[in-house]
Amino acid sequence: MKNLQHWINGKPREGSSERHGAVHNPATGAQEKRVPFASVDEVDAAVAAAKDAYATWGTSSLAKRTTILFKFRALLDAHRDEIAELITAEHGKVHSDALGEVARGLEIVDLACGITVQLKGELSTEVASRVDVSSIRQPLGVVAGITPFNFPAMVPMWMFPIAIATGNTFVLKPSEKDPSAALKLAELLAEAGLPDGVFNVVHGDKVAVDRLLEHPDVKAVSFVGSTPIARYIHTTASANGKRVQALGGAKNHMLVLPDADLDAAADAAVSAAYGSAGERCMAISAVVAVGAVGDELVQKIRERAEKIKIGPGNDPTSEMGPLITKVHRDKVASYVTGAAAEGAEVVLDGSGYTVEGFEDGHWIGISLLDKVPTTAKAYQDEIFGPVLCVLRVDTYDEGVALINSSPFGNGTAIFTRDGGAARRFQLEIEAGMVGVNVPIPVPVGYHSFGGWKDSLFGDHHIYGNDGTHFYTRGKVVTTRWPDPADGPGGVDLGFPRNH
Ligand code: NAD
Repeated sequence: MKNLQHWINGKPREGSSERHGAVHNPATGAQEKRVPFASVDEVDAAVAAAKDAYATWGTSSLAKRTTILFKFRALLDAHRDEIAELITAEHGKVHSDALGEVARGLEIVDLACGITVQLKGELSTEVASRVDVSSIRQPLGVVAGITPFNFPAMVPMWMFPIAIATGNTFVLKPSEKDPSAALKLAELLAEAGLPDGVFNVVHGDKVAVDRLLEHPDVKAVSFVGSTPIARYIHTTASANGKRVQALGGAKNHMLVLPDADLDAAADAAVSAAYGSAGERCMAISAVVAVGAVGDELVQKIRERAEKIKIGPGNDPTSEMGPLITKVHRDKVASYVTGAAAEGAEVVLDGSGYTVEGFEDGHWIGISLLDKVPTTAKAYQDEIFGPVLCVLRVDTYDEGVALINSSPFGNGTAIFTRDGGAARRFQLEIEAGMVGVNVPIPVPVGYHSFGGWKDSLFGDHHIYGNDGTHFYTRGKVVTTRWPDPADGPGGVDLGFPRNH
């Protein structure tokens, strides 16, 4: 059994408290590691290290920061496979999918390598006689990130590359279910030359999170996870005077119009619903079929879904791995077993599925539910598993109304050949990320990622320009260098006018 450690002030630190969690390999069901749960003192030690480091990192040159980030990028690139293997061993997703998340995290490091351009200030000369005004952005100080299990490398990389590039120091509390990728990232940052204390990792549960939320030296909190916890983080961190962005859960819809290419739509629905066993916040979990396309679309989805090869993530022939825990697997299965009684047609039932030779793994098969009423729990809840609901509507307007009535508003997609309908959809739909014939519209690193409604609390999306803004605060400097020839200005009690 491997004992994991925290990463504080540039080195590993053993957990001092008795509290710890179990890290399982979801494919075998075996516990392979123990992760320490940080005490308040350990969180305080990480924040203190980050505060000390901020004294010099916050004023370090942009050249120094970007040199380190370029080195980190090269190391990340060289260690893609190793990080992906760690992810597969603890999360369960297949190796190719784990490589995909590393690649999307690397995109944000690319962005951070170019922070010099984003941090350029603005200067207006001669706003009044011999008066110039400049706007600059400065770091906040110590900032914290709290991340979910489903992207143990990518989601931390949505946050810390931009945070440290802009001069902040960082304390990460990764998911306790798959914490090793975060530790590997910490090692690579140190190898790239990042000064001690600029990036720290504390493992744990609510105790660690709550301490970060209340610690007076933590200036901002970025959170990604489920909606109830996102709401709690936003409320608590805001009440403690911190800047906060809290990204929550989702129920992502895909609207298929009668003129869509149904083969392309079925390919997209299957890929987006069952990829990573549905444990993606941008997974498509509800297909809304408009008009008469429903029967044919469901048939095409079924044909494709039945062929998906389920198996351990480190088997290159596997397309879908297990779920994160047994408890979660049983919860996902309960939505499928209860669906018929709620009025849905169960086309494929993946509950009770197992993989030969890996009987203790957290397996579930593919489930497809048709004609799901909006009152069914399988539709209303974010299931976070390989369960796709199909809902039937008669018109585009009915479809948009249905999607907009969801409390979530993360991603959504339309499949159509009609440019006018696609354009209307972009403008009318209440979600933060929209795909047109693209099922998982996760924005590239230089745009920003974020949902609406219960999918995001706070007013900043994550990464892109929003990331730079979130991790910096503005300052505007007004400067006057009078010419001696002007003579004394004299006392003037009026409000300063520009002339
Ligand atoms: P989670 O909310 O259970 O946990 C997220 C983080 O919060 C973890 O670090 C966890 O330790 C911590 N946490 C859990 N309970 C807590 C509590 N009571 N008090 C304080 N901290 C607590 O989420 P998860 O199961 O790890 O991840 C899956 C969820 O994350 C899904 O809902 C998914 O949609 C969401 N997610 C959203 C996005 C997005 O960008 N919107 C991205 C990825 C995942």
